[in-house]
Amino acid sequence: MMALGLFAFVTRLSELNRGQIEGLVEAYEVALASSNLVQTVEQAVAQVGAVIMAPDTTTARSKSASLEDKIAQVDSQRRILLSKIGDHLPEAEKIKISLMIDEFISYQTDTAQLCLKFSPQAAIIQANDKSTTVNREHMLAEVKQLHSGMVRSAEEMRKELATSQSTRSTLLQIVPASSLMIGALMVAALMRGRQAKTNKQRFDSALDTMSQGFCLVDDTGRLLVVNSRLQVLFGLTEDLVGQSVQEMARRIVIARQIDDPEALKFLMNFNLHVQNMKAAVLTAELGQRIFDFRFDPLADGGLVLLAEEVTYARTAARKMERMALFDALTGLPNRAQLFRKLEATLQTFRLDARPFAVLCVDLDAFKDVNDTLGHLMGDKLLIEVSRRLKACLRPEDFVARLGGDEFVVVIAPSPTAVVPSAICERLIAEIGRPYDIEGQRLNIGASAGVALAPAQARSAEEILANADLALYHAKEQGRGCYRHFTAEMQAKAERRRRLGADLRNATANRELDLYYQPIVDGRTGQIETFEALVRWRHPTEGLVSPAEFIPIAEESGMIVDIGQWVLERACHDATTWPDQIRVAVNVSPLQFRRGDILQRVKQVLAVSGLPARRLEIEVTESVVIQDPNVTLQIFEELAALGVRLALDDFGTGYSSLSYLSRFPFHKIKIDRAFVKSIDDSKSLAVVGAMTQLAKSLDAKLVAEGVETREQLEVLIHRGVTSIQGFLYSQPRPLDEVADMIEASFPAQRCA
Ligand code: C2E
Ligand code: MG
Ligand code: MG
Repeated sequence: MMALGLFAFVTRLSELNRGQIEGLVEAYEVALASSNLVQTVEQAVAQVGAVIMAPDTTTARSKSASLEDKIAQVDSQRRILLSKIGDHLPEAEKIKISLMIDEFISYQTDTAQLCLKFSPQAAIIQANDKSTTVNREHMLAEVKQLHSGMVRSAEEMRKELATSQSTRSTLLQIVPASSLMIGALMVAALMRGRQAKTNKQRFDSALDTMSQGFCLVDDTGRLLVVNSRLQVLFGLTEDLVGQSVQEMARRIVIARQIDDPEALKFLMNFNLHVQNMKAAVLTAELGQRIFDFRFDPLADGGLVLLAEEVTYARTAARKMERMALFDALTGLPNRAQLFRKLEATLQTFRLDARPFAVLCVDLDAFKDVNDTLGHLMGDKLLIEVSRRLKACLRPEDFVARLGGDEFVVVIAPSPTAVVPSAICERLIAEIGRPYDIEGQRLNIGASAGVALAPAQARSAEEILANADLALYHAKEQGRGCYRHFTAEMQAKAERRRRLGADLRNATANRELDLYYQPIVDGRTGQIETFEALVRWRHPTEGLVSPAEFIPIAEESGMIVDIGQWVLERACHDATTWPDQIRVAVNVSPLQFRRGDILQRVKQVLAVSGLPARRLEIEVTESVVIQDPNVTLQIFEELAALGVRLALDDFGTGYSSLSYLSRFPFHKIKIDRAFVKSIDDSKSLAVVGAMTQLAKSLDAKLVAEGVETREQLEVLIHRGVTSIQGFLYSQPRPLDEVADMIEASFPAQRCA
């Protein structure tokens, strides 16, 4: 290609007419100017390489600054060369040559410079393009060779001119050299032009395959380069090159059909970023989509702008954030956000010393709704409860759902003393109003515990633990009420924790014992059943009441092992008693929930040899409610074995007897609270109603906690004949049972 180009040029020389040859009188200067230009271009290209290869950005920056100088030098030398080509060449020829020279320069310098400025991708293509480098070296070598030959001829010409010999012959001598010089430049430029085109194509495709929208802005704010991705991203169709970058933003707004206030906000932000000349990212929501605009100012006052759609990532991130901080069901803040809030409020307190209150709120009987009406109904109820909670608080107060039916309210510090009692009363009353959900009328209640900060707690964990403890006490003391945290509560909690730890070893250490309390026929005084009641002889605390340790055992799951031990012992003990006396064993909800109670009962009966009809199992309503269908099946199977079932503490739960009538209870035990207040007309009425219902269900009614003869008389008058209580006997150890039996049945003896 090169050789052909030169050959063609040489053959053209013979066609030069005299005028043209005379026009080349200044060939010597042209040759020198060409030589200078080629050398400077060569140096510039070498410097491009140095910038690309620079080990760090600082070096790259300083190298590119000297490259800028070199390019300025190229520019001035180009102007000198073009002016020296002179007026003797025909206009078309002159333009053609100057264009070629320009193309040569522009390829060598501008493309490289562009690469450096904004596209490492293009720079890498350039740097790795072996053929470009090799070609460049060849050409420069040939041009240099031509140049030195030319200079030699020109020197000779000069000498001859000086000796006033024939100008014409001298001129003819130098023509080939200078023409060849220009010819070489032309060929080189032609080749570079082609090479430049392919490189530009590569460069463009590199830009267009970028996943981001890209544009290069010059120091006057005009767009120099815009890749096609940017146009696709915003649906722009016009050619933007040459437009201002602000105009591009305006067109984006139009193309995305953004409404006025939003559009104005975006344009203002965009312009601010352009003017700031600092590396920054602008995130803008344009219509339904979110974009990141990355502004990277360049040293020469220009700017590189990258645009990227981040809708998916941002919405996913927002969703994640919401999920991390909000409860999905009610939309209330969750535990994580509550802790943030508590920490922040504590921080505020430390700064301005204003106290605040934290309320733990728990719904009463919510589990019953969930169990009897299903979780969907439970969910709807929780949503409504959340709404009511929010409605009765001030906007500055905070309410979170911790899961289940637990809520926490943070009463914002107020200039006056916080009065949490009033707020608790309002919340409890509000939650207690009936709910109408999907045609169902639901009634639930709420209990609350209050803790004050910082008087009673200094960390988020401590405040919550205190409020929770107060709530626990509210629940224990009858529900539907609230309690303030006290130091005694903490002491009790500490004792609970200690007992819980000690209870783990109680069975192994043989610290548990069974006491028996008789249930007698109130009319004859004869014993029908002995109820087994567990006792714990704590090595240092003495006798611990089951009322205290059974709930601890239930919470920790230890009740399963304790219950098994009780069942085995009670059945074994009962085998020594007369055949008509049954043994009643209390069974916890957890023992039922484990699902193997039937097998365990069967096994214990088999091992002890106690007939199934002599075993009575006492359960509370919570056993029935937790999973009615499964429980019913277990009950039916137990009943089929011959085991009798008793409903304990009746009247303290929340379900109606008609609901319970689905279950095959043989016995219903009226809770001792009713017996205690039997002289109250309401309790009496309840007992009266229970008698009727028990009769219709064909179940035996037992009164618990009978302590006085008056209570006994009222009960017998009402038809309650089975009696349990201190009036007859307290629970007694096994070795006293034989005497009780003998007193009850003088003719009978224990085995
Ligand atoms: P419970 O099953 O309702 O047992 C009756 C409780 O009432 C017993 O309390 C008994 O001592 C008490 N009591 C009986 N007559 C009177 C009376 O006339 N006046 C008063 N004030 N109280 C009377 P205890 O033994 O303290 O047991 C408390 C509760 O602990 C039991 O209530 C039962 O729920 C639970 N419990 C006891 N032993 C076991 C057991 O082995 N397993 C399970 N799961 N729970 C048990
Ligand atoms: Mg009982
Ligand atoms: Mg009871």
